[in-house]
Amino acid sequence: MALVALVAAACAVLISPLTGSLVAGVGLLWMLFKQHAHLARLVRWAHKPIGQEPLPQATGLWDLIYSDLNRNVRQVMAERAKLGAELDRFRDASQAMPDGVMYLSLTGAIEWINRRAAEDLGLDLDRDRGAPVINLVRQPDFVHYLESGDYSEPFLFHPIRRPGAALLVQVITFGDGRRMVISRDVTQIEKLETMRRDFVANVSHELRTPLTVVSGFIETVLDGLDDVPREDVLRYLGMAHEQAARMQRLIQDLLVLSALETGAPQPIEDVFDVVGLVREVARETEALSAGRHTISVIATDACRVQGSAKELHSAFANLASNAIRYSPSGGEIQLRWQLLASGAGEFCVSDSGIGIAPEHIPRLTERFYRVDRGRSRETGGTGLGLAIVKHVLTRHQAELKITSAPGEGSCFCAVLPARRMVPIAS
Ligand code: ADP
Repeated sequence: MALVALVAAACAVLISPLTGSLVAGVGLLWMLFKQHAHLARLVRWAHKPIGQEPLPQATGLWDLIYSDLNRNVRQVMAERAKLGAELDRFRDASQAMPDGVMYLSLTGAIEWINRRAAEDLGLDLDRDRGAPVINLVRQPDFVHYLESGDYSEPFLFHPIRRPGAALLVQVITFGDGRRMVISRDVTQIEKLETMRRDFVANVSHELRTPLTVVSGFIETVLDGLDDVPREDVLRYLGMAHEQAARMQRLIQDLLVLSALETGAPQPIEDVFDVVGLVREVARETEALSAGRHTISVIATDACRVQGSAKELHSAFANLASNAIRYSPSGGEIQLRWQLLASGAGEFCVSDSGIGIAPEHIPRLTERFYRVDRGRSRETGGTGLGLAIVKHVLTRHQAELKITSAPGEGSCFCAVLPARRMVPIAS
């Protein structure tokens, strides 16, 4: 500006005032053009995405403006990168969460969802983003919970798309009314809870029946102490005694199960002579049979076993007593111990008894599962024997193998792993 004024003044003095005015006019026009060019560049730059291209170097006041703007843009970009990295970290953490996480907009549209939530609710991570969640998960109880606005309690949801699954859904509102939906898979917890309820119901039922019988007998005797003949009183007392013994057996088995479940995770290890143990079980089986069955023992593979002699004795004896109880008089029972080619040790009890239909076999080790409730009771069963056997074997990393067919007898084998076999030093 000053330069234009100087040159115009010089021209006016040295040449003519008209030339001076002309030079001043051209100079001003040129300056106006330059300002306009800078402004146009600024407008073009402002229309481009931020940070795409810095403003070039300029002169004078424009250089100051351009470098200020460039510095501001650099700061904004750095801030943005920092925020982006934080957002990525947050998303990675939400993705890695074992629970489902879903963010809903004010209108209930899915803004963001992690993989777990997509699997839990049967949604598609990309396709369903932006869609209202209640249009995608249409189960009335889920829709009602989301729309109720009362999220003080979580809601137990059984998604139709995942039969058998149970999810605990909790909505948390935040910010300006957005919602975060957290879903936790509680299928296992629900199963355990059902098992616990069934177990309590079963135990109560098992105890109630004999208790009713015992109290009935006592009432009858009390009501007619003088009128009831002595032999009837003795008969009633005998039956009451039988029922009391049944309750005792049940409680004993429950205590054994509970000790196995709540006791030390590992059995107390002994190293014992397994052939001796099998012969002891055979003697007890003979006593239980009282001559009604033919019992044979094959146990030639002398060996010592590392494990709990007490627990394995109870498991083997349970299998043998079942063979007696489910084989009619005259039946044949064999107890066999052998070392397999793999090095594992196998104890088998086979009988010529009533046998078991294939559909029952996978469930026999469930507590209180019986093929024939009446027969189990008649023979003094508690329905817990095989559950105890299974527990003991699991604690010894052993397996229970069952082969049976109705009317053809059964064979129950406990297979102990090779690493539990301790060879007898020769
Ligand atoms: P229980 O006290 O009823 O015998 P267990 O747990 O020992 O309970 O056995 C579960 C069920 O398995 C029994 O009720 C019976 O139906 C069946 N079972 C077990 N062992 C035999 C066997 N040797 N022969 C036929 N059925 C058997």
